[in-house]
Amino acid sequence: MDKELFDKYNKLGRGNWGKDLTIWKTMYRGFLSQTKSEGGFFSIGKSEGLNPFNEMLLNTFLDIPKARKEGIPVIMHPFNYEPELFFAMNLAPMMQEIISVGLAFVHLNEPYIDYINKIGYGDNPTLCNAQRPFISMVMQGAAPIPDLLFYLSTPCNSLLASYQVYQQLTGIPSYNIDVPYWAYDQDNEFYDKKTMEYMINQSKNLITWLEDNTKQKFDAYKFQQTMAIVNESREYTLEFNELLKAVPCPMPSITGFGVFLTMVARAGSPEAVKATKWFHDTAAENVKNGIGAVPDEKIRIAWPYTHVFFDVGLLSWIEQTFNAVVIMDLLGHYKVLPYNVSTIENCFRSLALGTLDASMVCTTRGPMEYYIEYLLNYVKDYKIDCVIMPMHFACKHVYTMARVTSEAIREETGIPTLIFGVDSYDSREVTSEELKSKISEFLTHIVL
Ligand code: SF4
Repeated sequence: MDKELFDKYNKLGRGNWGKDLTIWKTMYRGFLSQTKSEGGFFSIGKSEGLNPFNEMLLNTFLDIPKARKEGIPVIMHPFNYEPELFFAMNLAPMMQEIISVGLAFVHLNEPYIDYINKIGYGDNPTLCNAQRPFISMVMQGAAPIPDLLFYLSTPCNSLLASYQVYQQLTGIPSYNIDVPYWAYDQDNEFYDKKTMEYMINQSKNLITWLEDNTKQKFDAYKFQQTMAIVNESREYTLEFNELLKAVPCPMPSITGFGVFLTMVARAGSPEAVKATKWFHDTAAENVKNGIGAVPDEKIRIAWPYTHVFFDVGLLSWIEQTFNAVVIMDLLGHYKVLPYNVSTIENCFRSLALGTLDASMVCTTRGPMEYYIEYLLNYVKDYKIDCVIMPMHFACKHVYTMARVTSEAIREETGIPTLIFGVDSYDSREVTSEELKSKISEFLTHIVL
């Protein structure tokens, strides 16, 4: 990042953001410094001053204090709901897990985990450390207080419980969507005709609730326009997924997660289009030139779960040590189809579909068969050699599916699976050395 650009963002980050945004501001400044010195995230391909993803992320932080100054309501939402409707209603979306998971990258979530352990708000196997540190921050007066809170009943009870506690502790007006269990597709054995109607009604009620709790009015035309912007990002993303089928895989292991973060934090913004286009174009260029992210690619790994967020170097270590590439994680495998924006009713139907098909939600919201089918297709489509599932202790719903799914994969494709327990957010439960040792043993003795 050149000096002029750094000075610009440094200046934009000055001033009083408000006491409750202290952590948000600290994260912004930390990320800006890291971007200046090391290029930020995804310094892939040719060296670019500030790549569109990092630029988008910096602006994601800056948008919140800006919204406060301009009197735009801030709405907090979790990592499983895209913000296009909020953008369309002139609200400022703030994805909570940027804080509680973002801090795990530098282990700064751990003092908050220690505090919440002392208070006795759940424990690691019962409630997930993706959100527990945030409750800790709220109790210590360190969490951002948005104007509105929105969350869903998926992908887990743990998330739902923690957002309810957050709402109770702060009294922020909140709205919750209950995501149904059953399928919407008539050809699916788990089809239930009420699924779509149930989702569409909840989205419409959400709009009424947003209007009632802000001065914003729903504008159908702006909604359609915003969804059309989402579609541009989705088209790039779906093509990006196709490009990752190339051998060698054209992009480093972490890239899919970057695409996911783009969509869940900024879908509906022109910046998300720029970032997804950049991911797509870089992948396309590498495929065209036969360039693999890992020299002499030997192993292609499916990682149908979240990354181990406390260990930022893990994926590069796997790439360099074993000439292996993780094609995509469960969140990064973003498969939501473009919206049908032809009529306003189709927009509502599409919005409901987008929520049901969101990354992780689509595979974990219902019967185990959703997850098994997803993983079987993933293994076949991407020429996978093995599956690695570092199972987070609190993620009971995925944990229960892991073994059965691995058996299905072995029977149908002969591919081996490594499953082991870890706390993806806390480096002290299963250490970096321990998890590397398990992966090393598996790749060396079973896969290679
Ligand atoms: S890791 Fe599992 S338990 Fe934790 S928030 Fe994600 S889905 Fe929920």
